[in-house]
Amino acid sequence: MNDLRDLYQDTILEHYKKPRNFHDLPDATAHADGYNPLCGDKVKVYLKMTDGVVTDVAFEGSGCAISTASASIMTEALKGKTVDEANRLFTTFHDLVTEQGPQPDSAGLGKLAVFGGVREFPMRVKCATLAWHTMKAALDQKNDPVSTE
Ligand code: ZN
Repeated sequence: MNDLRDLYQDTILEHYKKPRNFHDLPDATAHADGYNPLCGDKVKVYLKMTDGVVTDVAFEGSGCAISTASASIMTEALKGKTVDEANRLFTTFHDLVTEQGPQPDSAGLGKLAVFGGVREFPMRVKCATLAWHTMKAALDQKNDPVSTE
């Protein structure tokens, strides 16, 4: 577990203990459910979109520190983004945690960059990406539950 400890940086732990935008969103225009059976992480992501802009975003669920912190930081990153920007951020984040090549330029990632170390831990990649895949399903208005398997 010593290797994993490096992953649990202060930002991740802080968001795990005090997740942001952690509530339901009655006026959401889209939502999706996600489940990561490998770890048991469950997340529900709510989006409120107005004129192609994500004006509000929230999540509920229960999961490990990585999945909860990832969802929390994601909600902060998405608020105010256009749908196109949200799609681009999904791709950038996905590359950050899955690609084996050079890390993408983290300048535009802000706090999301703390997940750069996740790629070293394949079991944790699904924890980190669950909320993002779920958000993408909501963005695309897909109604099927998302599973990482
Ligand atoms: Zn997990």
